[in-house]
Amino acid sequence: MTRRPLIAGNWKMFKTGPEAVDTATHIAKACADVRDVDIMIAPAYVCLPLVAEALAGTPVHLGAQNLHFENQGAFTGEISADMLKAAGAEYVIIGHSERRQYFDETDETVNKKIRSAADKGLKPILCVGETDAQREAGNTFLTLDKQVSDGVNSVDPKDLQDLVVAYEPVWAIGTGHTAGPDQVDEVHRFLRDLLGKRISPDLARNVRILYGGSVNPGNIRELMCIQDVDGALVGGASLDAKIFTQIVKFD
Ligand code: PEP
Repeated sequence: MTRRPLIAGNWKMFKTGPEAVDTATHIAKACADVRDVDIMIAPAYVCLPLVAEALAGTPVHLGAQNLHFENQGAFTGEISADMLKAAGAEYVIIGHSERRQYFDETDETVNKKIRSAADKGLKPILCVGETDAQREAGNTFLTLDKQVSDGVNSVDPKDLQDLVVAYEPVWAIGTGHTAGPDQVDEVHRFLRDLLGKRISPDLARNVRILYGGSVNPGNIRELMCIQDVDGALVGGASLDAKIFTQIVKFD
């Protein structure tokens, strides 16, 4: 496999600034010898500059959990791509199911955010995934097709060179129920094929497709053995430096 694995931690709305710096420092120290995996952590917005300072000169990259698609303006409480970059972020998670579920994120706003991130040189991590009801109804692939196709709609392929896709079945997030290897294999193959059709076959070959949903040190190895799995987006298990490091060092 030529794609470099990426293990990314989404810290959601956990950790104050000092707590985030402490965990980030421990991760960076424990992962100082990691050469063959990209590592990223995404703390809350207010922690970004502090964590950026703690990670300087280490192999751990920094990401944000969301952004606003406009670059500036009267949008109280929002953060733009330029602001995230200035705060030290390199990646940005877009369209996480919690944003879709609780904050009215739609495929249309996801598309605008992907454009903004790509335009400003942030690496977008596009999150897609079906709910339990959508899977039960046999609509998994229809759902994923719409989320991916609308998400990258009309974005110039040359702006998507750093795109990362995260398949996160909603029913597996924070539930302890990881999707089975056959389910993950089937969906990741589908997603790569779809990216080939919607963007370009070349890009599809290089895009990293992460799995997310109750990843832990006990299941990461099996997941990483699946051909089209290029890493993981980790929620709960990324909050503890020791556990996250075990996931990063899955080999
Ligand atoms: C997530 O929130 O992206 C996630 C995958 O969470 P967890 O690992 O806790 O299921």
